[in-house]
Amino acid sequence: MPSLLLLPGDGIGPEVTAEVEALIETLRARHGLVLDVAVEAFGGASIDAHGVPLTDAAVARAKASSAVLMGAVGGPQWAGVARHLRPEAGLLRLRTEMGVFANLRPALCFAPLADASALKRHVVEGLDILFVRELTGGVYFGTPRGIEDLPDGSGQRGFDTQVYTTAEIERVARVAFTLARSRRNRVASLEKSNVMESGLLWRQVVSALHAREFADVALEHMYADNAAMQLVRAPQQFDVLLTDNLFGDVLSDLAAALTGSIGLLPSAALGVDGSPGLYEPIHGSAPDIAGKGIANPLAAILSFEMALRWSLGRADLADAVMAAVRHVLDSGLRTPDLGGTATTAQMGAAVRAAVG
Ligand code: NAD
Repeated sequence: MPSLLLLPGDGIGPEVTAEVEALIETLRARHGLVLDVAVEAFGGASIDAHGVPLTDAAVARAKASSAVLMGAVGGPQWAGVARHLRPEAGLLRLRTEMGVFANLRPALCFAPLADASALKRHVVEGLDILFVRELTGGVYFGTPRGIEDLPDGSGQRGFDTQVYTTAEIERVARVAFTLARSRRNRVASLEKSNVMESGLLWRQVVSALHAREFADVALEHMYADNAAMQLVRAPQQFDVLLTDNLFGDVLSDLAAALTGSIGLLPSAALGVDGSPGLYEPIHGSAPDIAGKGIANPLAAILSFEMALRWSLGRADLADAVMAAVRHVLDSGLRTPDLGGTATTAQMGAAVRAAVG
């Protein structure tokens, strides 16, 4: 039986994942979803209960599941704990242990929310793009790195290493091409091959893989700085955007800002075929609104929608959940982050009702 490990975490995490659990109940009762759900403490909640942000048992359970869905971790209560025991350390461990190297971040503009964008309505209305960002390599992990004194005593130098291997580029490019086939069949691969050797290799490896296995997908190479400009000028031209870790970090945040509230944005991290995916809202634990029952649960619900699609083999139910979210937003219901007064529970209930 497919299985889901829920990691509610801290702050608004448990509030938004509770709405996912309720939605799962509805899908089980009325739409034939077969899914085994387990729950483990994560982040600050796990520190309080077990002394560590993620137990070995929880890691083992995550790896044995079909998918993992987390809420959010962290908060001021745990700001003082040792660095390796911080809630965020649990998240990094989870990503590493699960081997998730491809970060999927959709930027989707729901029509009734187009006016919430920083850009004009006609530029973003109907926007539906998907970033596939390499997550475990590149300049954030490359060595050597450090800060050292200059021998002449005139100051210091700070340095990082941007490095990618053929295998690292190929495996994330394969994810991008495969996902494009289930969308509008287009990939834009972003790098700076004009000034970076790693960018040149990136372009060569992506081209070779494309010719070998994905010639049916339309591939375009674009310099990352041009892509930044295109994203604010005419984002609709894109379908799937393939990037390294650094450019993806910056540009996917930019794209997310085109679409409205952080409370709407899901993400996924995938590893090799058949291994469990890690699904999570982009947002954090939002201590400023935690406990008030006003967090927007849609980012968590849309993260579950991605899990249904990419890890649980139920694209049909993912479509139903997406249609329900669109219906609820069309109806005008809004949580406070979108200028409304609906509570977390009201928004969750409306999605369940719309799923039918
Ligand atoms: P945050 O995303 O928690 O909050 C930023 C702002 O967005 C806040 O005003 C918050 O109220 C609002 N917001 C966030 N999610 C919302 C939602 N679903 N509905 C309505 N409003 C929402 O970021 P932050 O304040 O910088 O960080 C708070 C804590 O979360 C920190 O401890 C940070 O380390 C942690 N964090 C965790 C993750 C994660 O678990 N993946 C990600 C980012 C931050």
